Amino acid sequence: MAYEQEKQTALEAVKKAAKLCASVQHNLIAADTLEKKDRSPVTIADYGSQAVISTMLARELPKDALVGEEDSLELEKNTDMREKVYTLVKEQLESIDEATMIKMIDRGNQETDYQSRYWTCDPIDGTKGFLRKEQYAVALALIEDGEVKLGVLGCPNLPLDFHNPTAGNGCILYAIRGKGAFMCDLEGEDIVKITVDKLQDPSRARFAESVESAHSAHSVHAQISEALGITTEPLRIDSQGKYAAVARGDVSIYLRYPKDDVYREKIWDHAAGLIIVEEAGGTVTDIYGKALNFSLGRKLLENRGVVATNGTVHDKIIEVIGKVA
Ligand code: AMP
Ligand code: MG
Repeated sequence: MAYEQEKQTALEAVKKAAKLCASVQHNLIAADTLEKKDRSPVTIADYGSQAVISTMLARELPKDALVGEEDSLELEKNTDMREKVYTLVKEQLESIDEATMIKMIDRGNQETDYQSRYWTCDPIDGTKGFLRKEQYAVALALIEDGEVKLGVLGCPNLPLDFHNPTAGNGCILYAIRGKGAFMCDLEGEDIVKITVDKLQDPSRARFAESVESAHSAHSVHAQISEALGITTEPLRIDSQGKYAAVARGDVSIYLRYPKDDVYREKIWDHAAGLIIVEEAGGTVTDIYGKALNFSLGRKLLENRGVVATNGTVHDKIIEVIGKVA
């Protein structure tokens, strides 16, 4: 089957990376976290997760380029942190030395033309949620000719069943273009097909948005919601867990209206989530209804914000955004 090797490799990589993240989340101390130049936080788990994903891709698919969020610059200066990352990575990967691990993290900054074939990963999407011990995701996607072909989202804290949160936490969602979207547990067991909901009346919809009010305009979302006649409170979750929520029919809409004119969304924050929603039957565009273009570099330079829906209500949402915002 097409993309079978890629799927197996990506699933294995995300499984191990998610295990690494889950193993540290509850024992993180202040010294395990740094602030990057853009003032966003990065932890030993972000580096460890990128090292694991990059190494597994390099071993199985050595010709493929990888574009990852992190690089090892800060780790060069910080021996304590570097050693902690190495300990975590060794738990997941046999036979890796520290110098190779650093090289593997930096493989994520490879030059690629973004036109042909490359992978993109966010080793911890929603690091702020991770630090709050809430939702985060390990995101990995394969892009060819600007189109996402495969996506895997590991969500270690997301309930398997939204309506029955006590039934267990932790799931992996994945999709291959044209083959549907699926969910399994963190061991890769209990695979189920997932689909968006069939809701047609937007006023009965629930929408998802970021927890962080700096990442999207909550006030504009409230205006859109009011114009649509939505009365249910938004579901606030960090990370691409929001795409997961749309893909499984937990909510019908994910709104990400930009806070300003300057910010451009990063490819690794959307590639995996997009294909999972699309293959679950939904639609993903920017706030103008334009398809997301993954062939222009590390950012979605030609798009503004994101709207993901069950498909049925998509046109109506874009129309209302045009009127209110
Ligand atoms: P979320 O958990 O959905 O709020 O998204 C987390 C992601 O938001 C991070 O991976 C960042 O790359 C991204 N981010 C950081 N600043 C902004 C911003 N000003 N607007 C939109 N996204 C942002
Ligand atoms: Mg991210």
